[in-house]
Amino acid sequence: MKRDMTYEERRNILKASLKPTRYEHSLGVAETAAFLAGRFGVDVQRARLAGLLHDCARTYRNDELVAEAEKRHIVFGPLERAMPVLLHAYIGAELVREQYGVDDDGISQAIWRHTVGGAGMTRLDKIIWFADMIEPNRDYPGVEKLRRLARTASLDRMVLEGLSDSIAFVVAQNHLVHPDTVLARNEILLHHAGEDEFRQKG
Ligand code: FE
Ligand code: FE
Repeated sequence: MKRDMTYEERRNILKASLKPTRYEHSLGVAETAAFLAGRFGVDVQRARLAGLLHDCARTYRNDELVAEAEKRHIVFGPLERAMPVLLHAYIGAELVREQYGVDDDGISQAIWRHTVGGAGMTRLDKIIWFADMIEPNRDYPGVEKLRRLARTASLDRMVLEGLSDSIAFVVAQNHLVHPDTVLARNEILLHHAGEDEFRQKG
């Protein structure tokens, strides 16, 4: 497989495989991730590439995702079976190797975790997860607060706020909360217990 594709070549493959709005969203996540990587001392090129490709498995319809995951022997639980759309993250982690020649465990892990988070998230994982939430095409109550934190807060403070908001949102809709999201949030809270910056919400 061709492993020396340029960013532009990968972007063109992505553009051809996603709906225009999803492609625009991907460009937004790429640039937001690059900005956050610069702020938090993470490799900007890797962050931009992970952001660009994070939704590459959205090329599959929701009713195809279970079969695509099983084909790749991806192990998943009852929540993913109930909400197959979650599988696009896990499949995307494989697809970047298969179709985009990206052989980078850190990028694959960030894509794997971009929807529900996980325990022991790296800085790159957190940046991609958060960039997905605040890229310029996003519009929901509270997004401006998160964008402000992206410019001003520490990485963990910013991600904590995003995790709290996203859990509150799914609970308010009576939807399932993925345990990995709870793990990610608890871990940040435990790590920073007692620090002023982590005491208040908003
Ligand atoms: Fe996604
Ligand atoms: Fe996304």
